[in-house]
Order: sequence, then structure tokens, then C-alpha cells
Amino acid sequence: MDTKKIESLVYQLLEAIGEDPNREGLLETPKRVAHMMHEMYAGIQYSNADIAKMHGKTFPVDTNQMVVVKDITCFSNCEHHMALMYNMNISIGYMPKGGVIGLSKIPRIAELCCKRLQLQEKIGEDIAEVISLATGSDDVIVHITACHSCMSARGVKSTDSKTTTLTTKGIFNEDAMIQRFMMLKA
Ligand SMILES: [Zn+2]
Repeated sequence: MDTKKIESLVYQLLEAIGEDPNREGLLETPKRVAHMMHEMYAGIQYSNADIAKMHGKTFPVDTNQMVVVKDITCFSNCEHHMALMYNMNISIGYMPKGGVIGLSKIPRIAELCCKRLQLQEKIGEDIAEVISLATGSDDVIVHITACHSCMSARGVKSTDSKTTTLTTKGIFNEDAMIQRFMMLKA
């Protein structure tokens, strides 16, 4: 990521919105924004396959029972407005195929998928793909709810509305499996 370029563009952006980038409160702002973006968009440099490789160490197990990690909190930024998606709650389930990944890896995978310019629907697809690549299981489900500041702070100003998306792969395309997952994540 080119943080120097971000700094100079933020300086110009401040000018463009009618601000004085040289007033005291804004002097360090371009640097701060560049620093924040470096963290906020840390997932852009990795493909889904890269993320799966980074967090894909599996441990052999005999079980083929559903694994669910629920209530992962994340935020992301929408690709249409670069606006914040917040109060995001992610629950992920999969059916192990001979091996499981470390439970702490699952929130890390979700976080990296969120640290890109995203759509909520695409975050679900990305997480499902990474979990599938990392575990070798085609049976993955991802449930996401989030508020979108491009809805709450501008346009329709629908401050309390939340968007829910569900991504299902493999056996989770069956209603009975979706219901079991929804019970476990409740
Ligand atoms: Zn948006």
C-alpha cells in the first residue's frame, strides 16, 4: 500500500471539500488517515487462497459434527461509498472433513475478508470460500448482519435498519441444515 500517496491525496481531499489542510487540527490528519487505511484495508493484498494458506493449519479429528463460531464482531467498508459497515455480527459454520482449523483462526479469516472494499454479500462469499479452502470441506455457512453508514448517515437515513445475508455451500443448501445452524448460532 502506498501510504505516502494516500497522505498527499488526503491533503488534496481536505482542500477540495473547502478545508484548510494547514490549520492546526488538520496538520497530522493526512498521516493519520494513511495509517488508518493501512490497517483498515490490510486484506486487499491477500487473495482468498493466501488467507486460507495463512490460517489453514488443520488438526485431524474423527468428528463430522457441525462446528459453529458465532457473534464475531467486525467492520468493513462498502465498495460503493467507501463508507463504514458497522455493528457487524458474523456467524460461521462448517462440517469438518477429517480435520478442523484452530477456532481462533476463524475470526481472523473473517477479519481479513472484511478489511477490503466490500459488499456484505461478497464478505459472506469470501469467508465461505476461505473456510472451504482451509478446511477442505465444501459444507460452509456464513450469516452476517450489519449496519451500513451509507444508509444510516446519508440518502434514506435509515438509522436503525440492519442488513442480513446468508451464504450457503454444499450441504448447507438444505433447509434442515440451515435450521440446525440457526439454532446453534442463536
Ligand atoms: Zn455503500
